[in-house]
Amino acid sequence: MIHVEHLYKAYGPIQALEDVSFHIEPGEIVGLLGPNGAGKTTIIKILTGYLQPDEGTVRVDGLDVLVHTQAVQARIGYLPENAPLYPELTVQGYLKLMADLRGIPPQQQEERIGEAVHAVGLVDRVTQPIGELSKGYRQRVGLAQAILHRPKLLILDEPTVGLDPTQIVEIRRLIRGLAEHSTVLFSTHILSEVEALCHRVLMLMNGRVRADAHLAELATTGDALLVLEREVPGVVERLEALEGVGEVEAEQLPDGRPRYRVRPADGADLCPVLFRLAAGEGWPVREIRSDVRTLEAVFNELATAG
Ligand code: ATP
Repeated sequence: MIHVEHLYKAYGPIQALEDVSFHIEPGEIVGLLGPNGAGKTTIIKILTGYLQPDEGTVRVDGLDVLVHTQAVQARIGYLPENAPLYPELTVQGYLKLMADLRGIPPQQQEERIGEAVHAVGLVDRVTQPIGELSKGYRQRVGLAQAILHRPKLLILDEPTVGLDPTQIVEIRRLIRGLAEHSTVLFSTHILSEVEALCHRVLMLMNGRVRADAHLAELATTGDALLVLEREVPGVVERLEALEGVGEVEAEQLPDGRPRYRVRPADGADLCPVLFRLAAGEGWPVREIRSDVRTLEAVFNELATAG
């Protein structure tokens, strides 16, 4: 659905994007995660045809954004960071205006507006002026305008910024529902947002993609952990002698039990081998499991790695 290759963009002396490449398949929900200034909005503006890159290519649904800008925009539902809403218009009036701007034929507008307000839970508010709505409801209006033309791809720039926790849960639920019909790319600087919503994450730092992975892959270190009830002589040597083991680190847990971190030489899952060895040796096993990191730990590692 999205193919980005070797994208570069500078604002004067500031290199906002540097050799950014990624692909997004139809049906995915992908989070574009990065701290302030990482380049998220710049990518989104280029994808939606509102900004030209200095170098690189962007294809959406097989179309080059620079060549077929309008056709691409017709396929995208875009919620900008600060969606321009007109406070004096009613929800219905605003959506009618957006339907006109989107070129939706008048005879189809009622059905499309009905569909959109239903999808985002605004049916009860259609006659209310936008200026009287809470921020969470205004965000729903933004989402409704983004889906009016039944886009294949939804691009949402920080969709929950400034909302309270209840509104955040609601908007996330809506996004999950919308993702049943569209591919979704959204930007955020909030880790929990990515964990709550996505299949995949693109981590952006200083204009570069630092990680592009499924969440489960990122969280797994590949190490196997073995915890014993008590010290047993010769464990490290036996582990090191196992086929496929690269490195073994022994440490003591706060409760005094010994823990062995066993790193594979080739990325293989060592847990089954550890089970067999421990059972054969009669070791007093407390726990054997794959090591996982929190997304926060991954993010911090990438951030401090420069
Ligand atoms: P935020 O989370 O704060 O919105 P972001 O990840 O969306 O940040 P961008 O807005 O894409 O980041 O900005 C990337 C870099 O480019 C930043 O250093 C920013 O200051 C700079 N930048 C963005 N827009 C402009 C502009 N119009 N003129 C000059 N510099 C800009």
